[in-house]
Amino acid sequence: MIKADFHTHSEFSVDSRMTLSEMAERAMELGLEVLCVTDHYELGQCDDLGAEELFDVPRYFDALREVKERYMGKIDIRFGVELGLVKSSKEELHNFVAANNFDFIIGSSHSSNGKKLSNLEFFEGRSEQTAFLECFQSILENVKNLDCYSVYGHLDYVARYGPTKGRNFRIADYHEVLESILRIIIGNGHGIEVNTSGFHYGLGNPHPHKDILALYKELGGEIITVGSDAHTPKRIGADFGRVADLLKSLGFRYYSTFKDKEPMFHNL
Ligand SMILES: [Zn+2]
Ligand SMILES: [Zn+2]
Repeated sequence: MIKADFHTHSEFSVDSRMTLSEMAERAMELGLEVLCVTDHYELGQCDDLGAEELFDVPRYFDALREVKERYMGKIDIRFGVELGLVKSSKEELHNFVAANNFDFIIGSSHSSNGKKLSNLEFFEGRSEQTAFLECFQSILENVKNLDCYSVYGHLDYVARYGPTKGRNFRIADYHEVLESILRIIIGNGHGIEVNTSGFHYGLGNPHPHKDILALYKELGGEIITVGSDAHTPKRIGADFGRVADLLKSLGFRYYSTFKDKEPMFHNL
């Protein structure tokens, strides 16, 4: 059983109103042992991203420390962040991670070449495959240039916003770039996450698609965290049983948690 949710958003993210206490209570109710809070920290590098999504770092750590102490012995709260990765902000991103004592950093792509993946314009005037490929190429550039993350978040997040919602997603169309991405992640000692929000968005798969998980396994990938990407209490721990079954069917035996940026492994 997976007993750790490693992707959750509190009211420190602009798109969540969930308090840290609500999160801790819900996680305990589900029998989870570890909860990692990973609020958005998105530097404003995108032409159309609008305002930067940043939290007040001292306030964030104070609030996390307070809730960690309050729930000590009941649930283990870890300090995380979901960091928007863009290679042009390399120095700023690396400085941010070096300056703050996070347990865990999800590196995510929410944009590609200055365009938000959730905007329809990203797909306009070209095939879904071309748009997906461009996104994967920008992820490849990120992993070649950036080292400020523990796991890469929702690798095929772009699929959820495509006109067919990824129905025609076939790993063969992107095999070369995906293999390069995964080889670099593995070679640099990082991991990937399985993000259960893919089920919530009706993709029938988590992020990433099971075929990408199979490729990761084939290439020797071992570090996998599991996260719900919950923005509301009821989404915490969602579909974890389904993901455990999927990972086991692909030959994985462990999932990971992180403390002080170091991975630990637990039986699935
Ligand atoms: Zn994300
Ligand atoms: Zn998220």
